[in-house]
Amino acid sequence: MERLFKLLYFAGIVIQVIVRIPYDRQRRQIPKTDQRVTPAERGLLAGLAFGLFVPPLIYSLTSWLSFADYQLSPRAKTRAGWLGTLLLTAALWLFWRAHRDLGANWSPSLEIGAEHKLITQGVYGVIRHPMYAMQLLSGLAQALLLPNWIAGWTGLLVFVALYLVRVPQEEQMMLDHFGDAYRAYSARTGRIVPRLRH
Ligand code: SAH
Repeated sequence: MERLFKLLYFAGIVIQVIVRIPYDRQRRQIPKTDQRVTPAERGLLAGLAFGLFVPPLIYSLTSWLSFADYQLSPRAKTRAGWLGTLLLTAALWLFWRAHRDLGANWSPSLEIGAEHKLITQGVYGVIRHPMYAMQLLSGLAQALLLPNWIAGWTGLLVFVALYLVRVPQEEQMMLDHFGDAYRAYSARTGRIVPRLRH
């Protein structure tokens, strides 16, 4: 069972890479009018790629991290794994849906393209940062699928970093470009949790 859950974790990463391919191609053809790639942003992107891949890989292929394994019964690990699978499925759906809605406006870093449109439809009609919400869900999934204090928690660290470092910069950039339209959009949506009361 533990092997299956490890495999599912990496399958999740492969699915994300595949979902992104067409959007990445599309955005490369669009000239950028504003690029705000600070050293913090660069560090964030590098940490993201490293953290989500390397510790889980070391955990899966070696026993070097076994000192940090959770002390759980096999039954509890299996239950955690299935719950993680459920969360991972929800996360991947949200990932796909957010890319479909954002389309050519997606970029891995902070930038505005020529003809950038403010998207307020689809999942963006409910929350402003579905891709970061997805990272929270997949971080929780990771902690359940990889029962190890080091390999299991890097996804949640990535989420916290995105939320604290990138969200304020991204919202400032969107405000600078879309002004009142973004202000109004922010007033009726939540960042990662849907706003129920208007
Ligand atoms: N924060 C969003 C998008 C992440 S991709 C999410 O979590 O889903 C990052 C890029 O998306 C930013 O550089 C910005 O240019 C663009 N972006 C973010 N929100 C947008 C929106 N509502 N409409 C159009 N582009 C947006």
